[in-house]
Amino acid sequence: MRENIVAGNWKMNLNAQEANELTKILVNSTQNLGNTPKVILCTPNVFIPQTVSQTQNSAIKVGGQNCSRFDKGAYTGETSASMLKSVGAEYVIIGHSERREYFNESNTQLLGKIKQAQTNNLKVILCCGEPLQERSSGNHIHFVTNQLEDLFNQLNKEEIEKLIVAYEPIWAIGTGETASPEQAQEMHAVIRRLLAKYLGEGGASEISILYGGSVKGNNAKEIFSNPDIDGGLVGGASLNANDFLAIINAF
Ligand code: PEP
Repeated sequence: MRENIVAGNWKMNLNAQEANELTKILVNSTQNLGNTPKVILCTPNVFIPQTVSQTQNSAIKVGGQNCSRFDKGAYTGETSASMLKSVGAEYVIIGHSERREYFNESNTQLLGKIKQAQTNNLKVILCCGEPLQERSSGNHIHFVTNQLEDLFNQLNKEEIEKLIVAYEPIWAIGTGETASPEQAQEMHAVIRRLLAKYLGEGGASEISILYGGSVKGNNAKEIFSNPDIDGGLVGGASLNANDFLAIINAF
């Protein structure tokens, strides 16, 4: 179901006390929010249980930032999708550019992660996005289309229907540089047209497509007001309660 979403990606930041403090403020400040936008906190795995417990009487949902492509077994250091689910996570980010770049995650690996997540009833926030040289050379649409098509071609309709897609131009992540609303909308429309190839127009119109890349309180409204942009995946600004609330309140 298409819905407006603001998801925070805490990455590898905060300690348990800081996570607790931040979550407490967000729970208190979003009490009257209702269900729009849906707020998701993608925390480091070790903070998931405490965040789930703190948010249980609120509308805030909790997710992980990655999961293993394996079911279980001798994979030291990995966390399975079923483990995330068992501590109360409902979402998981898959294919973040930092995972693709620093941990060499290929589409083959990402496919395994998507399957594991969905088998365990986690909702997948699937990231895509082009590096600067692809944008500069005018190849960005081709690049992102290929990135997604490669995965969509190996998923069935029911699996694609369950995805949330996040477009995150790599050159805009953590750089303070944001894609212009026009650049973001252009790519979101391309992604929705691509989804229509697999799901039909009606199916594609039901998918939430989030924008990520230096979303802040002062640019969120303009970005979110575009027809194919259903919210944001927020890194840096999700670590500060006031900054994150300003983005949530942009809807
Ligand atoms: C992200 O890493 O998903 C992200 C969008 O980061 P930032 O908001 O800091 O650019």
